[in-house]
Amino acid sequence: MSKRKNSIEINKAVFRKMGYELIDTISDFLDTISEQPVTTSKSPKELQNLLGDLSLPKQGVPADQLLASTSKLLFDNSLFNGHSKFFGFITSSAAPIGALADLLAASVNPNVGGQILSPMATEIEKQTIKWLAEFIGVSPSYGGVLVSGGNMANFTAFLAARTAKAPKNIKENGLSNNSKQLISYCSKSTHTWIDKAAILFGHGSNSIRWIETDSSNKMNINSLEQTIKEDLEQGHQPFIVVGTAGDVSTGIVDNLEAIATICKTHDLWFHIDGAYGIPAAIIPELKELFKGVEDADSIALDPHKWLYSPLEAGCTLVKNPKHLIDTYSSHPEYYNFSLTEEGGSLNYFEYGLQNSRGFRALKVWLALQQIGSEGYVKLIKEDIELSKYFAELAKNHLELESITQNLSITTLRYIPEHLELKGEKRTEYLNTLNESLVNTLQAGGELFLSNAIVEEQYCMRACIVNFRTTKKDIEESVDIIVKEGRKIHLALKKS
Ligand SMILES: *Cc1c(COP(=O)(O)O)cnc(C)c1O
Repeated sequence: MSKRKNSIEINKAVFRKMGYELIDTISDFLDTISEQPVTTSKSPKELQNLLGDLSLPKQGVPADQLLASTSKLLFDNSLFNGHSKFFGFITSSAAPIGALADLLAASVNPNVGGQILSPMATEIEKQTIKWLAEFIGVSPSYGGVLVSGGNMANFTAFLAARTAKAPKNIKENGLSNNSKQLISYCSKSTHTWIDKAAILFGHGSNSIRWIETDSSNKMNINSLEQTIKEDLEQGHQPFIVVGTAGDVSTGIVDNLEAIATICKTHDLWFHIDGAYGIPAAIIPELKELFKGVEDADSIALDPHKWLYSPLEAGCTLVKNPKHLIDTYSSHPEYYNFSLTEEGGSLNYFEYGLQNSRGFRALKVWLALQQIGSEGYVKLIKEDIELSKYFAELAKNHLELESITQNLSITTLRYIPEHLELKGEKRTEYLNTLNESLVNTLQAGGELFLSNAIVEEQYCMRACIVNFRTTKKDIEESVDIIVKEGRKIHLALKKS
């Protein structure tokens, strides 16, 4: 067959050679990932110099040269969240099968916006979503869509909730013609996505009721109920309550069952933000903690967090997927046909904000099979046990204080021995010391953790969603923290 001559195709022999070389490099990288510094010590300026400031190349460069130099550039100058001592934010180590899945997905390149464009990929995404529902213990009849991450998963659900609960003519007339203000409820420790949602989708940030938390840091249910009643008396229209299943700073799970009851009483949409924590619902011993999940109208979860998928993969699950189609399809009258007709098509562009969509389901689907539900139970349990171990070591160390431990998040502080300061001075000093410690540790590259503010105390925060972390990593991390803490204390004393 004659082929069009062009600069983009790579001939088979070259492609194979490049591919094998890249895979060799990646295998070495993954094999030794924890022997490197967690992150580069170079400044943005140094990185810019390294990258160079050339303008857009006019002439092409052979592909094999590019790939070799680029992998070096990245492997030498990145932060590795797959490092066994990476505990920052909520970013997991990535299942290696995900890297190969992305290569395969990009090679087939299905557009999973429409079934006709992605015959098997659409079926795989559908199965992935069914398995994710099963994973967290809700009915497999929940439907949904994969999105880029937790923010998008929550946005997708927020808009579906609005369509379901707002007056029907809102689609034609918009929010501004709605006489009642639509009100959202969530606890004070809810992630910033809800602020973005309220602002971007035209509700305004004043439409959010940040419900206070009780002493265990869960949403105070009495305040929730009281606030809803007050809003109703004022003539507002409550429409959604967000329960958090694993809050970002300390891993608290709200009392989901109690929130579900209130939502039923007042006919409100019950959404769970489980971006981080909800995969832990698969652990038999934690069933009680997650009670009420099965009552949620929608759930956000992030395979790129505790399911160890490479970025990006989020998921919105909705109890009755018709609400997604009502929201995102321009001709929702067809949905009965699409969903019930055997072999009828399922077009994911009608389930969310995206039109053309990549095949992000593949990496999630493959990992679910490679690991299996029992494998995940073991991995997640071990992460939690390691986090508890971290807290225990902190508790037993003279110069450390364990502050909180929930799911796989531990917060702790460094407290120098014989610190004589009292009251406010002491709080202030410890906040300065611990903040400086977090910054020093992050720059140092020996381990990576982030911070949390717990009751006005600046804490170090370690979140373990990392299948490479071992007990030894935790022990060594404690030593590193104390060693650096002492140095900073000495330096602060002198200054
Ligand atoms: C991480 C997280 C988010 C945001 O998710 P992204 O994937 O970063 O967009 C929202 N809510 C919670 C509870 C999270 O843990």
